[in-house]
Amino acid sequence: MRHVPGAWSRAARGAGLLGPDGTGIPTIFAEMSALAVEHGAINLGQGFPDEDGPAVVLEAARAAIASGGNQYPPGRGTPDLRAAISEHQARFYGIPVDPDREVLVTAGATEALAATLLALIDGPDDEVVVFEPYYDAYAACVALAGARLVTVPLRRPDFQPDADDLRRAVTDRTRVILVNDPHNPTGAVLTEEVLDEVVRLAARHDAVIVTDEVYEHLVFGATHAPIARREEARERTLTISSGGKTFSTTGWKIGWVTGPAELVDAVLAVKQWLTYVNGGPFQPAIAVGLHLDDGFFAGLASTLADKHEVLAAGLRAAGFDVIPPRGGYFTVADAADLCDRLGVADADALCRLMPARAGVAAIPLTAFVTPEHRQDYATLVRFAACKRVDVIEEASARLAALGR
Ligand code: PMP
Ligand code: GLN
Repeated sequence: MRHVPGAWSRAARGAGLLGPDGTGIPTIFAEMSALAVEHGAINLGQGFPDEDGPAVVLEAARAAIASGGNQYPPGRGTPDLRAAISEHQARFYGIPVDPDREVLVTAGATEALAATLLALIDGPDDEVVVFEPYYDAYAACVALAGARLVTVPLRRPDFQPDADDLRRAVTDRTRVILVNDPHNPTGAVLTEEVLDEVVRLAARHDAVIVTDEVYEHLVFGATHAPIARREEARERTLTISSGGKTFSTTGWKIGWVTGPAELVDAVLAVKQWLTYVNGGPFQPAIAVGLHLDDGFFAGLASTLADKHEVLAAGLRAAGFDVIPPRGGYFTVADAADLCDRLGVADADALCRLMPARAGVAAIPLTAFVTPEHRQDYATLVRFAACKRVDVIEEASARLAALGR
């Protein structure tokens, strides 16, 4: 039977998410991970750790499975996880969150984002402002919700937005300002001034602030500062996070959204028709993780910072110009010189030949921008540092051979 395009297809075509024949294209992560497998390459593309997280968290999931925690959990999430999320927000940020009314557990941060946008978008005239480059699911979820994506560029050297660009982007049509901090793919941590401006603009134009803080515990040499810590922002801010990065359990897909009860209820109204509930035995396990001591959380960031250093040294030796990250899984590097030397057009072409030629996979930054802005990021490559040090060293040695 011939597939008849639905509403998603119309929206997705505009966002560059469909192939020339109108059919879906695989995500860049699926594409590059498949190339890595095909060529036996080290995968520094898709961001997932290659080591397990804390044993007590894994053990708690096993215990939940062994003791019958295998049926549908409550719609808002298990009470122990909701309590743990509330305590986490108070302990790290001093943000009060009512575990019964202001928390919703979701199938990863991805479902939280999708349900939030579907809940808040009213129609095709609504706009969602994002910083560009953006995590690829943002454009897809905005398209699913049938809104318009408005982008504010993050510029080198430190990938902060220009205040005038931000002010121009936010208007009375803006329904949501979607802020990812720490930022994937650039590794930026947004300045207090930028966050203040987001809050001012959201208030002036009556927009909802949605934050994606999945890398909240992976900030280097500083502590994470959520927008919701500002009291004046709280009534209009939905904060999204996930256990995937913090506990190295990206496959468990336990995420959450916290914020004012009315907004959380609106997200729940959509989420219940998407997955209804998810990850029964994994929810109490993530609750155990959120209660771990401060040493665990501090160790996460410092271990990852060290890995970024090893990766940066390897990339520099291989001819990349590294832009050091301030948070998150990824290091961005400029491959302009390397592309010239190898005679390839841009980072996209380089990333497509790297798995076969060098035995290393990575992601071109053009995967995170709208089609019309690709040129601005054409020579940049994203490398995941959340891998064992010996794996990063082996990848570095392979990349060094590429440029010789
Ligand atoms: N937001 C960002 C910025 C991410 O990098 C990711 C994936 N790593 C997600 C959301 C998705 O998180 P989850 O796996 O919890 O759905
Ligand atoms: N968030 C991960 C990354 O940026 C990938 C998750 C996915 O494959 N959708 O690499």
